[in-house]
Amino acid sequence: MAEKVRKNLVEPLVKFREDIKDKTGREITEKLYNLLEQLEVTNAVSQMFDKLKADGEIAQAKEQIRLWNLLIGTLDQTVAVAGDLKISLKRYFELLSLRLSALQIADIPRTVDSVSVGTATRVRLNNEKAVFLIGCIDGVFPAVPSASGLFSAYELKTLIANNLPFGDEPAELADFENYMAYKSATAPSQKLFVSFYKTDLTGGTYMQSSIINEIIAVFPNILLHREEEYCSVADSTWAILPAFEECARNFNSDSNEERALKKYFSENEIFKDKYSAVANASKAKPFVFDDKSNVGLLFGNDLNISASQVEKFSLCRFSYFCNYGMNVRERRKAEINPLEYGTFIHYIMEVFFSKYSKNEFSNMSEDEINKECDSILDDYVNKHFGGSQKNTPRFMYRFNKIRENVHFLVLHIIEELKNSGFEPVDCELKIDGDIPGYEVVLPTGQKILLRGSVDRVDILKKGEENYIRIIDYKTGPKEFKLSDILYGLNLQMLIYLYAITLGGEERYGKVTPAGILYMPATVKPISADNTISDEQINEQVSKGLKMNGMLLNSLDVIDNSDAAYISFNTKNGTLTAGGSLASLEELGMIFKKLDMTVAKMGATLYSGNVEASPLKGGKDSCEYCPYDSICAYHMSDCRNSFSLKNDEVCRILEEEQENGGEE
Ligand code: SF4
Repeated sequence: MAEKVRKNLVEPLVKFREDIKDKTGREITEKLYNLLEQLEVTNAVSQMFDKLKADGEIAQAKEQIRLWNLLIGTLDQTVAVAGDLKISLKRYFELLSLRLSALQIADIPRTVDSVSVGTATRVRLNNEKAVFLIGCIDGVFPAVPSASGLFSAYELKTLIANNLPFGDEPAELADFENYMAYKSATAPSQKLFVSFYKTDLTGGTYMQSSIINEIIAVFPNILLHREEEYCSVADSTWAILPAFEECARNFNSDSNEERALKKYFSENEIFKDKYSAVANASKAKPFVFDDKSNVGLLFGNDLNISASQVEKFSLCRFSYFCNYGMNVRERRKAEINPLEYGTFIHYIMEVFFSKYSKNEFSNMSEDEINKECDSILDDYVNKHFGGSQKNTPRFMYRFNKIRENVHFLVLHIIEELKNSGFEPVDCELKIDGDIPGYEVVLPTGQKILLRGSVDRVDILKKGEENYIRIIDYKTGPKEFKLSDILYGLNLQMLIYLYAITLGGEERYGKVTPAGILYMPATVKPISADNTISDEQINEQVSKGLKMNGMLLNSLDVIDNSDAAYISFNTKNGTLTAGGSLASLEELGMIFKKLDMTVAKMGATLYSGNVEASPLKGGKDSCEYCPYDSICAYHMSDCRNSFSLKNDEVCRILEEEQENGGEE
């Protein structure tokens, strides 16, 4: 049924969108009217009219027809404005919205004893007994007129001066606003209430309107009320929702009012579950699934997740539950920005190093490399921008900056590869796509499959060995710390390397893991005076591009890793153990730790434990967390992380694994 409704709606809409491309205002309006016909809006209005009339709701029935006529009138006006001009859908939408937002719809009061609600300009005040003027904010009521619509204040004035009165002049509008304020305040025969708000939900602050100041000046003995007088429990409990909020806010209070509210909500059929959730939160009771079978219903009986989700779970289970279980996310402006630096860099690296073999790019001159980069960049820009946007000075400035960075980065990477036996063999390799995903099976039989994408895979073939190192381009700062893995952090690249080691044989031959490296993809500015040579500048910039991470402590790998390009402890220019080097045995322990961490994550999640227990220390899980307002984190027990030396980490791993995984 739902699918049928969706189809009936979406298909005509999609066709409408196609039909109105490259059309005039008149043609678009005709097609819009036809669309309304096709969606049977005209029939629906007519049926609604008949039904309301049959039910004796004559005024309501007439209202439907009036609204329909207003819409048709607006379409006519849009044709009058846009007529036979070709117009984009966006512009047409703007015009139509402008016309519709200018419509003012008011209802004529139908009874003698009634309350009329409306804006000051629309309600007809005629000897009312009492008037409530609400929202008397400085600049809002009376409003400070601003030119809205098609013409600016200056244009309106010029048009009026030339006998083309398209609208009122702002000065006249200001007089009108003052008149309306005066008329509203003097309308009641018995009582006048005037109020304003000092703040709103956006946190904005407001001042009382001039009308309040004038009333106080005219009636110095007038009765003034302050907001504190209306903040009692009784004032907040006039309806069930604010009453529940009041109850939740003061949950730990022992006042008579709070006890009465608790009794009411704990017995109320609709609110009792919410009430017990608040009660649990107030006791700082960890969040757990009462019924564990619901975990499977929410997350699936097996998990197929990105490698980064393991880190998210390690940072805070409750935040993971909200994000990936409940899909509660912050509203974000949907935005695709192809000029975003990271997107650009990943694209150019992928295209360049997929197109040229090491032998080919090693024999290209600097000029040829730069030209090739420019050609890839131009293709990208034409594909994603085209049109006139790319000719704007702002765009060209950003684009040329990126171009300079790209030239430097690609040359730098090529130099590193020329000084090494490693060569790129894959770009944007899909784990659980190009090679099998990394899978952990829990003792309960549930499977956790991890997937992801590796920016670049380099191979070094030495005899029987196929050494694989993987590279991640980072536009922000990134420093690899082995001790992070003790807390379930920084696992992504290690998981990828492990996945390649386990499942990459078909693609690369039997794999020996050679390491992970983070490559800075931003050329940092350097400070220099005019005595510094070009070589010195290049040297300083290259220093900022040194990769960091962890490499296999093997002669083959070390001989092919140049300390000029990789940040490690060095002796006489070569890498030494004690920095971020790990033996095969140590890598084996690290991989085993990954198995244990992923298995623990699965077991914890499927046991229903999603408590808010944030990790603090080097990284504060709560710092930018959007769920802080619902997790009661100030009551959570946090876990601390510490930075340890690599040999200390290996010792801990060894002990842990000797104890069968007990931490
Ligand atoms: S604020 Fe902290 S404790 Fe609360 S959900 Fe976020 S990370 Fe977890």
